Amino acid sequence: MDQLPICSCRKLERPFRKAIGATKMKIVILGAGLLGVASAWYLAEDGHEVTVLDRQAEPGMETSFANGGQISTCHAAPWANPSAPWQVAKWLGREESPLLWRLRADPAQWAWGMRFLVECSAARARQNTIDILRLALYSREKLGALRQQLGLEYDQLTRGILHFYTDERELSLASSQAALMREFGCERVMKEADECLAIEPALNASTVPILGGTYTAEDESGDAHKFTQALAQRCKLAGVSFLFGENISALGVEGGRISNIRFTNGRTIAGDAFVVALGSWSPLLLKSVGINIPVYPAKGYSVTVPLDESSIAPTISLTDDGYKIVISRLANRLRVAGTAEFAGYDESMNKIRCSAILQRLKAVFPGLKHEEKFDVWAGLRPATPSNVPFVSKAKFNNLFLNTGHGTLGWTMACGSGQLIADLITGQAPEINPEPYTFQPLIAAKPRLSPSL
Ligand SMILES: Cc1cc2nc3c(=O)[nH]c(=O)nc-3n(C[C@H](O)[C@H](O)[C@H](O)COP(=O)(O)OP(=O)(O)OC[C@H]3O[C@@H](n4cnc5c(N)ncnc54)[C@H](O)[C@@H]3O)c2cc1C
Repeated sequence: MDQLPICSCRKLERPFRKAIGATKMKIVILGAGLLGVASAWYLAEDGHEVTVLDRQAEPGMETSFANGGQISTCHAAPWANPSAPWQVAKWLGREESPLLWRLRADPAQWAWGMRFLVECSAARARQNTIDILRLALYSREKLGALRQQLGLEYDQLTRGILHFYTDERELSLASSQAALMREFGCERVMKEADECLAIEPALNASTVPILGGTYTAEDESGDAHKFTQALAQRCKLAGVSFLFGENISALGVEGGRISNIRFTNGRTIAGDAFVVALGSWSPLLLKSVGINIPVYPAKGYSVTVPLDESSIAPTISLTDDGYKIVISRLANRLRVAGTAEFAGYDESMNKIRCSAILQRLKAVFPGLKHEEKFDVWAGLRPATPSNVPFVSKAKFNNLFLNTGHGTLGWTMACGSGQLIADLITGQAPEINPEPYTFQPLIAAKPRLSPSL
């Protein structure tokens, strides 16, 4: 079995680099979401002078704010697969559907849609799954190490993820997905209905029959926002500067390099290297320097429910395949999140879509309480057509991307942070960086390795 290639020798290399005084760079990170803060940590750990910029007042206030909470490594699958075009067509115009494509006169949406169709072949879907899985496995390991090293608390649960099915056809397809995961060292195990209820007894109350599921004991969950804020605190202690409340408007180019970033108020900040981690907003800034990345916002919703002793609620993280939603226990709260709506940068709440999530939650867990106190939120996932993010250099020698993580930004955050830090500082990455490399024509992206 082809396992994740991890080079342990690099762990000895880092103190040595510091001891010989490897060049200290001034690195500017654009965006203080999961990806920006994770990048900052690994770069600061390597001894560089790091500044993180964000228009919000605190870290993790946009897409990293109230996501589904899953570190769903062994459930990591791209949206683009052979059945996706039919599902999208079936759901067109249905307000309550899990995936809604709102047709717009927006060339970026159409270009993204064409690339998405290219990624839907069986061969591409398999390769994309492998590429996502490689980074997700690496990332889960990095997250575990960071938790141990820093003692971070973010309502984490390391009790696995149960993916349950309420549709026979989807359940039958699950076994091939689980087999693919097992091929690459992810223990995703098929479970009968009664085994699912034993793993998560709160499902016994479900009014929707649970037909079976897959379980991955090694997957995790936790509050991504709390994590981002806790890691940002540790970054500050390690000397990282944060500049909040400023809107970045342009990248300055001089002598074939990025020389500075400019804010809307005219102020500039210079640096040796720049990391774009602006989530869904990354393509808007990059366009100004002639870089066209296929990242499009995919709006999702979450509902957070406060719990008390009388609530009959799950104690592990779940994925409800029928509604494409995830459900995570975050201490005394329950977070349910999901659905995708391709409607540009519109962040408004759609009542029909939110109530579809709530109805489903109540059908599966009728014993929840405090309906009047539910918190509803919408966020824009930075989605690529393949679901494979860009963690690489782009066009200029000192410009780097850490963006496009779509549905799996929390799952891939720590691995992506370490990978981009390695690429910037010239250290040998522990995983093959090629699949995450930005190439202007990604529709024709060559695939070098058939395995992990
Ligand atoms: C409903 C939902 C559920 C999800 N569930 C999961 C899950 O269970 N597991 C998982 O792995 N992932 C999940 N995700 C995906 C995950 O949340 C995202 O991939 C991740 O948060 C993206 O992080 P980011 O750092 O790239 O972007 P962001 O968190 O959006 O950070 C980008 C930052 O850039 C700043 N910014 C943007 N433009 C500018 C500008 N011009 N000037 C200054 N600052 C700017 C923003 O303020 C923001 O703070 C979910 C997403 C959604 C919406």
